[in-house]
Amino acid sequence: MRLLCALIFALIMPPAPPAGAQALAVEALAVITDLPRPAESRHLLELRVVLLDGSWNRGEITNALGEASRILGHCGIHNTRIDLLRVTAPQAQRHFDPPHSRQLARALDLPRPTLFFTAGTRQIPAYDAVAYGRSNSRRSPELESTVWIAPGARDLGIVIAHELVHVLMDSGEHVTTPGNLMAEETAPGNTGLTAAQCGRITTTGTRHGLLRPGVD
Ligand SMILES: [Zn+2]
Repeated sequence: MRLLCALIFALIMPPAPPAGAQALAVEALAVITDLPRPAESRHLLELRVVLLDGSWNRGEITNALGEASRILGHCGIHNTRIDLLRVTAPQAQRHFDPPHSRQLARALDLPRPTLFFTAGTRQIPAYDAVAYGRSNSRRSPELESTVWIAPGARDLGIVIAHELVHVLMDSGEHVTTPGNLMAEETAPGNTGLTAAQCGRITTTGTRHGLLRPGVD
C-alpha cells in the first residue's frame, strides 16, 4: 500500500493545562489515499486515525484500515482519505478512560469520525473497542463519532468496520444474522451487511455530516 507522507509536526496545547502538565505532541505520519474503491462509489468518507501507544504496528493498522474500507465498500462507501497521526499524550490519556479521553479529544479537536488506537482500557467492563455515536455521547460530547480500540483486539479490520458502523448508524444495535458484520462478537468472515443496514448507515451518516454524497 502506497503512503503519501506528510512530515508535518505540530504542537497542540490542551486548554489551560495544569502546571507541569505534558503538552500533546501531534505528528502527522501519513495521508493514505489509495484505499479500496467500491464498484459503486456513492458516499465519501474521510477518517482520522490516532496512534496513542508505540506498541501498535503501523503496517498492521494500515492493512486493517484497508480491510475495513473494503467491507464498508459493500454499502457504496468510498473511504477516500485517512490522516494517520501519532499523538504523544500524558500517560493518563493514552488509555481509554472516559474522563481523560474526553480531555484528550477536546484538546485535539479533530474532525470526525476519528479512531484512537490506545495503550489499553481502564473502563470496566473492559471492552476491546468502544464506539460513540451521537446518541450515546450526549453527556460527553467530546467523544461523539469516535472509536477507541485497545491492543489485543482480534480481527482488527473487522473490528474497525464494525465500530465505524455503530458510529455512522448512531446505533449500538447487534444482529444475529449469520455472517453479519454487526454480530455482537466480531469474527473472521463476519463481514456481511444487508441492504437495510447500508440504508441506515448512509442515511444517518450523511445526516450527521460524517459521509458526503457524490462520486469522487
Ligand atoms: Zn458492536
